Amino acid sequence: MDWEYIEPSDNPYDFCSWFNSTDIELCSDDCVDEEVLCILYEFSDICFDCVDNQNCDDVTLWDEVDECHDSDDGGDDGTDCYSGWYDCLGVCDNKHRARIKILIDELGLNEARRQIYEHYNSLKNESRLPSTDIIKFLMDEFSPPDFSTAKEHDLEKDFIRSLSLKNWAETNLTSHHDPNHVIVSVSLKKPGATPGDATAKQMRVLADLAQQYAYDELCVSHEQNIILPHVPKEHVVKIYNKLDEADLATSNIGMVSDIISCPGMDYCKLATARSIPIAKQIATRFCELKTERDIGPLKIKISGCINACGHHHVGHIGILGLDRRGVENYQITEVQKIFS
Ligand code: SF4
Repeated sequence: MDWEYIEPSDNPYDFCSWFNSTDIELCSDDCVDEEVLCILYEFSDICFDCVDNQNCDDVTLWDEVDECHDSDDGGDDGTDCYSGWYDCLGVCDNKHRARIKILIDELGLNEARRQIYEHYNSLKNESRLPSTDIIKFLMDEFSPPDFSTAKEHDLEKDFIRSLSLKNWAETNLTSHHDPNHVIVSVSLKKPGATPGDATAKQMRVLADLAQQYAYDELCVSHEQNIILPHVPKEHVVKIYNKLDEADLATSNIGMVSDIISCPGMDYCKLATARSIPIAKQIATRFCELKTERDIGPLKIKISGCINACGHHHVGHIGILGLDRRGVENYQITEVQKIFS
């Protein structure tokens, strides 16, 4: 039985018997249609109410469900369509408009910011924030390492001995708040390779480096690279050498070839165009031209459809793949003024 063809207010019991015999969690697991999810969760409340109170023929209950698809604002009365600010105000009746960026565009940035703070304060007042015990547990679990154990070390002397190390350090090292440490960014953007990919062997090397030299900590960045957030300066040369051996010493963080690319049509069933081959070609081209350092920091981001997982709309140059009458097209969606 399909929920779309049931008129609940006419015959709520038919629907309820279907609903109660359906594994809703399983049903919603693979569902990406926000309107359907919204309705399913509304029904789950109503049907439990029905079971408990035998009042399913109270047609006013069904009006709540109607808010999922009948109103423009997707249920601004706090229905369980989603949780949080966007969840209260976001559009869930039209999957093409169900985006935070569209809501912000309609409200304006200042109004959106005001509402987010208002919502945040209301959550605080309702004591929906985690308890102090949970916050303490998290603080203990994620407390920073003891930086005082690191020795003083002059990296400049290492750079004099190795030009390749110096070049790599220029792009891949960032200063740390502790003077005896640096942040190491490991590039997964070797020109010509798939952005963000690492082999199993490379991942083991990275895990070993984190364990031996970086307080057992590494992060995967949204820019599809690996970060060792706390590295004592005395270990930088050892880390660089190991990365070099593992083909992981690409020195291009923040440069033209450090492209964020979504999986696109190679892997993603929502894609309307390929992203990875475009990223590979751009990176290879600039590598051949040897102009990356002259150009300097430049963020290119590629998405294979309007869902924008590659964040193309916030790149210096954003590339959006679109299907036009069955042909892959690419649209430069935004070029920021970066040379001023
Ligand atoms: S932007 Fe589109 S194609 Fe790329 S990963 Fe997201 S949904 Fe898939």
